[in-house]
Amino acid sequence: MLTAVASARAILTSLHEVMASRSGAQAKLNRIVDVIGENLNSEVCSIYLLREGMLELFATRGLEQAAVHVTRLAVGEGLVGTIAQNIETLNLAEAAAHPDFAFRPETGEERFHSFAGVPIVRRQRAVGVVAVQHVDPRRYEEVEIEALQTVAMVLAELIANAELIDDEDVAGVPDHLTGPDRLKGQTLVKGLAVGQAVFHQPRVTIEHVVAEDTEAERQRVYRAFDKMREQIDRMASQAEFGVGGEHEEVLETYRMFAYDEGWSRRINEAIDSGLTAEAAIERVQQRTRMRMRQIDDPLLADRMHDLEDLSNRLLRIVSGQLGTAASLGLKGDAILIARNLGPAELLEYDRRRLKGVILEEGSLTAHVVIVARAMGIPVVGRVRALRGKVREGDTLLVDGDQGVIDVRPAPSLVEAFEARFAKNRERQAHYATMRDVEPITRDGQRITVMINAGLRDDMPMLPLTGADGIGLFRTEFQFLVSATMPQRERQQRLYRDVLDAAGDRPVVFRTVDIGGDKVLPYLRHNDGETEENPAMGWRALRVALERDGLLKVQARALIEAAAGRTLNVMFPMVTEPWEFDAAKAVFESQVAFLRKQKKVLPEAIRYGAMLEVPALAECLDMLAPRLSFLSIGTNDLTQFLFAADRAHPKLAERYDWLSPAILRFLARVVRDVAPHGTALTVCGEMGGRRLEALALLGLGITRLSITPAAVGPIKELIRTIDLGEIRNAMAGWLREPHADMRSVVAQWASAQGIDCD
Ligand code: PEP
Ligand code: MG
Repeated sequence: MLTAVASARAILTSLHEVMASRSGAQAKLNRIVDVIGENLNSEVCSIYLLREGMLELFATRGLEQAAVHVTRLAVGEGLVGTIAQNIETLNLAEAAAHPDFAFRPETGEERFHSFAGVPIVRRQRAVGVVAVQHVDPRRYEEVEIEALQTVAMVLAELIANAELIDDEDVAGVPDHLTGPDRLKGQTLVKGLAVGQAVFHQPRVTIEHVVAEDTEAERQRVYRAFDKMREQIDRMASQAEFGVGGEHEEVLETYRMFAYDEGWSRRINEAIDSGLTAEAAIERVQQRTRMRMRQIDDPLLADRMHDLEDLSNRLLRIVSGQLGTAASLGLKGDAILIARNLGPAELLEYDRRRLKGVILEEGSLTAHVVIVARAMGIPVVGRVRALRGKVREGDTLLVDGDQGVIDVRPAPSLVEAFEARFAKNRERQAHYATMRDVEPITRDGQRITVMINAGLRDDMPMLPLTGADGIGLFRTEFQFLVSATMPQRERQQRLYRDVLDAAGDRPVVFRTVDIGGDKVLPYLRHNDGETEENPAMGWRALRVALERDGLLKVQARALIEAAAGRTLNVMFPMVTEPWEFDAAKAVFESQVAFLRKQKKVLPEAIRYGAMLEVPALAECLDMLAPRLSFLSIGTNDLTQFLFAADRAHPKLAERYDWLSPAILRFLARVVRDVAPHGTALTVCGEMGGRRLEALALLGLGITRLSITPAAVGPIKELIRTIDLGEIRNAMAGWLREPHADMRSVVAQWASAQGIDCD
């Protein structure tokens, strides 16, 4: 018995000769069936290829030659059709005993008992089947099956090169990823979208399967493994890993697989058998994928997904196809598919074409989700095993309202979706009419409604929504979308453009909030030290105060951009009052410098702080008198209050913004700030949701800064509220809180006829 490697190698060497020969495609196929039959000691070897939607016998050794181009099976028909449909290998001692067996008299196959068949796969679709048969009723050895699978890869390349099958035929092949499917996830950003699936990390296309120089291929794989291990180790040593929201557990698994001897050995064996590095990696992965489909245990299946991720990473490194779908450019309306994304990665996509995002992970306040919300792009997160159920190019209907995705939908479903789309547009149009309507409560209180922004492109939202200003301009977005640190002139230009676009309306510039899940590739922000918990680590003002060069440059850019106007500056993550003083001092020294230079200065500079760290609440009596304004960042505040990572998918739904703890905390902040008359705003995502906004108004908050798409709905809500009533009700709830405050507030709202959906 040959070893797996030797047997595959012998076949590949012969196939290589066949493929290099100048004979026509049919002659090559005839020769190939002989080579395989001889090497596997099989009386029969046949190749079926897809033609006009049917699997047609193209070449055979051992069956009747008269059956060639005559015997045709539908996908799903007989053993051959079943293999193609399920993209699955069959290995049977007694073919006729299989329930799917279909007897074709013209082939003369009644003499043969054993049967083994392997799908020929191209772009994840079966385009044919290679089968062997034998008179003896015996199951083929694993080495023989593996050799046959390797042959199938080579055949896939030959078929593509010889154009033996039509692309149209391939597109029409049903397989296990055919027909409509419905996936459930969690709503992260509401809205509807239709488009074609685009994988953030595209699958690598393998051009060559058979190696010219095995040693060279082995070296390529060694180098790729080294590089991959380096990458994984770097992820572990940098907070960067937190960007994707991926967690320690995943990292550990990545590391385990990256250093797994078994995995690299199997790839090496595949190379020994004559495959290129890419084909060898894919070959081993195919085997894993087949096993994965039989796994029922979700935990194990998750780990297999990790291996799949890593295998794709290895493939990308070895083939040099390193770009994401963003670098390749979107061709049409696209729905982006990813395990997770960082905000910077999302911002690389063409806004006009990106219609929706689906993630296997994700959480409501992860920055990528905040960015998508600001872009008006619906996001569904936490869709299990997403990438195994969707294929690049599949049509997807994303229902961000319900957290549902329809994959390859039937036309009737698309029609129904279009109708909902139209309704949605109507609703949007209705909200657009709210642009000039003032957000005044029924009892006459004017509420300030501002928007959160971060890019030049966000500015048109100000006149479109009729918002009162920009309550939070996240200046770090400019840093996130740049490949290098934005220089002072560039920063200044952006700030000036933003102020110009805002006109009379105020803009609150928040100084850079880098760290946590917002990482700059060009700023190694923790001096290479591992941060176990980047959200609570070296970020925001902490970075700015230590690297005060960064803050100085930004201060100068802001001060110069606001020449002759009012500049509102806000510091993120202030934890103790002295940090505010120190940051303000950086600005003041720049003012002094510019004054000496006789530059035009801003008319006024108003300094504010964000309340995101609970500790600051204890010192408000000290800080509030020094502030022009205070803004509560509920996204971070809640994560620290509940000790729950805002980007952690499992914790995403565990804690509620309407829980007694957060409501009481906010009530106390309102109470403590009131005597100082400091303007108090809420600028976290919480304020953009109707029920939460109702609760905030009940707590005495009268200033909100929210995502632009929420302005219409929130203005509408405000006009239906009697502030006195909700404050009274809230006072009662705070005295005697209910465990499920969400239901209590919702019931109250519905009894008052207030629509909070
Ligand atoms: C917040 O933390 O609530 C906030 C508004 O800031 P960011 O989401 O940018 O951290
Ligand atoms: Mg924050």
